[in-house]
Amino acid sequence: MKSNKQRRAEIKAHRLQRAAALKAQLRTQDARQLSAGGLVPGMVMADKSRLAHYNTTFGEVPDFYLDQAYTCRDCGAQEVWTAKQQKWWHEVAQGSVYSHAVRCHACRQARRALRDAALRNEGANLLGDEVARLRALAMQKLTANALAQVEAALQSKWRSLRVVAIEVMGQWGGAEQIERLQAFAANRTSSYGTWEREAADAATKALARRAEEGSWKC
Ligand SMILES: [Zn+2]
Repeated sequence: MKSNKQRRAEIKAHRLQRAAALKAQLRTQDARQLSAGGLVPGMVMADKSRLAHYNTTFGEVPDFYLDQAYTCRDCGAQEVWTAKQQKWWHEVAQGSVYSHAVRCHACRQARRALRDAALRNEGANLLGDEVARLRALAMQKLTANALAQVEAALQSKWRSLRVVAIEVMGQWGGAEQIERLQAFAANRTSSYGTWEREAADAATKALARRAEEGSWKC
């Protein structure tokens, strides 16, 4: 008994042969002649009413589609763009008259997966996600895990994330946090644009906010 994989390979080989035969026939015969005796295998009639997006100034609206062999641009596999697939592409998906299949199914899926990963911003919006996560920590109780995350954020390559970590420490409060904030604040340098200066400013602001909130509560 044949496996599905074997069967698919056979169908593909058969389609490739048929596409080549159709192409050879078209060299000697007019396409209309080819379809004169009815539909030939590997051929599907076009629905011209669905091809209004074709600009007929630049070419004739197809009467039908024929299986076409092509080589996948990425992996080099021999593939067939079937007449049925072409019909769907041009009439349903409204794909351009000039566009045709260039990649096999597997390579298209691989590209889509890559694109989706890029759209999910794996990397690009990481900073935004990290900032949101860190800010959420400020609303939670101070745990060892939360503290570890703030420590990690203080080591981040992103300065803005380090500033948020300082703000979170300010919101937490507690003797230890206050002490650290004071150390940051005391480390203020006069050189503008340095991390020390920025950290000191952030810590000073966080401490001032705490003092303000404290007095407001009284
Ligand atoms: Zn491929």
